Amino acid sequence: MEAERLELDVRGMTCESCALHVEKALGAVTGVKDVRVPGWKSARATAEVEPEGTADDLAAAVRGSGYSVSVRSRKPLKATPSRAEPGNGVFDLMVIGAGSAGFAAAIKAAELGKLVALVGMGTIGGTCVNVGCIPSKTLIRAVETLHVAGQARFRGVHTIPGRISWPEVVSHKDELVNEMRQEKYIGVLSAYPEITYLEGRAQLSGGNRVEVDGLAYAPGKIVLATGAQPWAPSIPGLAQAGYLDSTSALELKELPKSMIVLGGNAVGLELAQTFARAGTYVTVLEVLPSILPFEDEEIGSALTRYLEGEGLRIVPGFKTASVARQNGRYVLRGVKNEGEVTFDAEQLLVATGRRANSADMGLEEAGVHLGARGEVLVNDLLQTHNPFVYAAGDVTGRDMFVYVASYSGGLAAENALTSAGKVYDASYIPRITFTDPQVASAGLTEAAARGQGRDVRVSVVAMAHVPRAQAARDTRGLVKLVADAQTDHLVGAHVLAPEAGEMIQTAVLAIRFGIRVGDLRRTMFPYLTNAEGLKLAALAFEKDISKLSCCAG
Ligand SMILES: Cc1cc2nc3c(=O)[nH]c(=O)nc-3n(C[C@H](O)[C@H](O)[C@H](O)COP(=O)(O)OP(=O)(O)OC[C@H]3O[C@@H](n4cnc5c(N)ncnc54)[C@H](O)[C@@H]3O)c2cc1C
Repeated sequence: MEAERLELDVRGMTCESCALHVEKALGAVTGVKDVRVPGWKSARATAEVEPEGTADDLAAAVRGSGYSVSVRSRKPLKATPSRAEPGNGVFDLMVIGAGSAGFAAAIKAAELGKLVALVGMGTIGGTCVNVGCIPSKTLIRAVETLHVAGQARFRGVHTIPGRISWPEVVSHKDELVNEMRQEKYIGVLSAYPEITYLEGRAQLSGGNRVEVDGLAYAPGKIVLATGAQPWAPSIPGLAQAGYLDSTSALELKELPKSMIVLGGNAVGLELAQTFARAGTYVTVLEVLPSILPFEDEEIGSALTRYLEGEGLRIVPGFKTASVARQNGRYVLRGVKNEGEVTFDAEQLLVATGRRANSADMGLEEAGVHLGARGEVLVNDLLQTHNPFVYAAGDVTGRDMFVYVASYSGGLAAENALTSAGKVYDASYIPRITFTDPQVASAGLTEAAARGQGRDVRVSVVAMAHVPRAQAARDTRGLVKLVADAQTDHLVGAHVLAPEAGEMIQTAVLAIRFGIRVGDLRRTMFPYLTNAEGLKLAALAFEKDISKLSCCAG
């Protein structure tokens, strides 16, 4: 009989101490080497047993503790990385950083049958689940619900924010974050015996050598996936005054009466609208001429109007000269339209971008080149200038979205471990800003396409033409398509609409798979959906859509 790894489904656990109870009972069975019960909600336990341990003994132990159990799977234990010792080179791959890119890289390597070390520092799961997508989107949805509830249903009538228990909302957010971290990261590890999780800070020491908290390893290849962190410009007085960043803003237990948000891009605007809807008076200061400066111009100006309509103050073209604290308030002095202007508020949130976690890791000494903003430079295969080292996710400084981190993590691992030679494809990456209305886009803006010298045609349709929007009495927004004038291929799509994120995937598929605007025109779109706006915009290249009857036909 061989040593085995068993997965058990445990039923009847109702709290964390039940999970500990089960773990203890399993650990006491003869022959058990390792037990994991990730938590009571997962209802899944794993145990590694030496030959003398049997599934019956494990099941009896769980039942003896008062829970029911069945054996879900059992596999012979392969040579697992737990036998790996520092320095013996047993790991085929070492992934540095246990966020989304790191997990994707480690899982891809495990699927390829390789032994992987996943090195994590800080809270496992990285940015998205702990301090990014999940906490921000759950707060956004919470205040959105409140906003809609407080809103008169019909066009033209504006909202009075209702009452909200902010500490309660924040505590629900923390609960969700804990659950998802458990379910999507900690719990997932136990499904891959090929992955060894090493807690610690990794540093490169040249070639394929890595030190983790002083222990030396020599894995076959390395994937850097150390992510990024909030970055603030060097404005006189800012560091001394102190400020919130996206991480600490999501932790605020009390709502400020007023807040300045420095930076009018996705993260800044999402948080600005969230706090405004919860009851804070918010001013957004943006140095460039428009908010969402990298999106289509028409979308930035339309969103400005909607946010202002909700009571936010939006100030583009403001260059901050200094920050100070006076009488418990933040005072920002600066210049707009060549005149001096001052803003003040109880809180200051700086959302001016994120920079790669690449410092003090021995990267440059190990031959990994960095760009001007500290980002790890990679080629199309995500390989750095050190041939043993690949990089993925936010640390590369580009396309900072979690699905890109996950895609690039898998790609980097595959390219590092095989001769697949897969090229990183950024041509169709969707971008969403989770304001309300949302901004969703993919491909090139009109300005970027023309800037590349492309001959393009453009169509713009207001959401007011979309029956779904009319029926919902919410006609905010527009759809803009950019098509190649010669080939009719869709090269860019830009949507401002409630839940625009749910619409954009049609355009993503069209851009990725070379679907022409004419194909979109000839395809049925379900009636009374906002996605029909994309078909109307496709039709608008050819006809006056105000003369159409029902169903965009
Ligand atoms: C407020 C906010 C909202 C967001 N919302 C969205 C959204 O809605 N949708 C979306 O797609 N994206 C969103 N993002 C972006 C998304 O979260 C990131 O693009 C993604 O999480 C990056 O993943 P990553 O694996 O590259 O890095 P990370 O998740 O940051 O993981 C890197 C990990 O490496 C660790 N590490 C660093 N240095 C070392 C070292 N030397 N040794 C070991 N470990 C190390 C770090 O501690 C961290 O755990 C949001 C970001 C923020 C800040």
